[in-house]
Amino acid sequence: MNGLYIHIPFCVSKCFYCNFVSFKTPLSLQKEYIKELCAEIKNKKKLMKPKTLYIGGGTPSILTPKLLEELFKAIEKNFGPIKNFKESTIEANVESLTPAKLDLFKKYGFTRLSLGLQSPDNKYLKIIGRAHTFERFLKVYALAKKYFENINIDLIANLPRQTLAEFSKGVKKVISLKPKHISLYALEIEEGCVLYQKGFSTDDDLCLKMLKTAAALLENAGFKQYEISNFARKGKKSLHNINYWKSGSYLGLGLAASSYLKGVRSTNTADLRTYLTQKNKTAFSEKLKGKAKEGEKIILALRMLDGFKPTKKMLQLFKEDFDILIKQKLLIYKKEKLALTEQGKYLANQVFRYFVEPF
Ligand code: SF4
Repeated sequence: MNGLYIHIPFCVSKCFYCNFVSFKTPLSLQKEYIKELCAEIKNKKKLMKPKTLYIGGGTPSILTPKLLEELFKAIEKNFGPIKNFKESTIEANVESLTPAKLDLFKKYGFTRLSLGLQSPDNKYLKIIGRAHTFERFLKVYALAKKYFENINIDLIANLPRQTLAEFSKGVKKVISLKPKHISLYALEIEEGCVLYQKGFSTDDDLCLKMLKTAAALLENAGFKQYEISNFARKGKKSLHNINYWKSGSYLGLGLAASSYLKGVRSTNTADLRTYLTQKNKTAFSEKLKGKAKEGEKIILALRMLDGFKPTKKMLQLFKEDFDILIKQKLLIYKKEKLALTEQGKYLANQVFRYFVEPF
């Protein structure tokens, strides 16, 4: 299923763990960006007919209603009505989400809202430099529920100095809000972010315990873990993201956005000046072939916990690796599908190493 991704790289401030392409910018630059993004939409509309739409960032909700509407109109003019997409998601943060913007999302027929919470504990929101409090989140979430039946909440595990008990309490609090989907990622402190500069590091053993506890709490509450980091209620899996994991085609527009079309993977420039001034925005492009292509498909497919049916080609190239991982009890055949075991789910990076170059 073809997917269209649109990147809005602006945020009210930079979170202390963030390594995404996002930054604080004046309104004048946001206006310039939307103009250029709309031109890119027009120029690339022939590349695909998308079935799902995902507007992510950064923080899409930071845009003014006027700029949001300019973007939505460009999408509709070139790809058809947003309400006709099989699924359309927009990401938002509560510090910039207002009733006027929710009205707009509804007017254009978005079906899914994804909210960044990360933690329901103000102490940790402060440590990681988030721009909102839990109280503000609750207020906006209550309002958003009047507009959207299908809301995702993003959470992060293993925050600096966080205990297992605090984390579990947080997960229970989020479950009590009854979202339809939860994305849960482990904190990664990469070189360059503020937490790294402050000397924070992560505790892998504690993180593992947190992820296992969260999975159990969420499954008990009726969520299905359908991907390593994603939990959904019945019928609420993210179709747009499933397309990525199934190696489907996607078109990414905007700063640093990636595309995968006809076996070619390409990424737009991450430099805002270049993006705004150059017609050719591609910074990197490669046609994946042979073992590298199959290996990447396997890694993506294994992220889905139901697994996948290996093709003849995959078996030719990786049968020995599959056998080793099955012996190590990290992979298992569920009928004809190969999947991560319960243990493999938490050691996925160890499994994935078998499918990346150098083999
Ligand atoms: S809101 Fe998201 S994209 Fe923006 S700075 Fe924070 S983590 Fe990064």
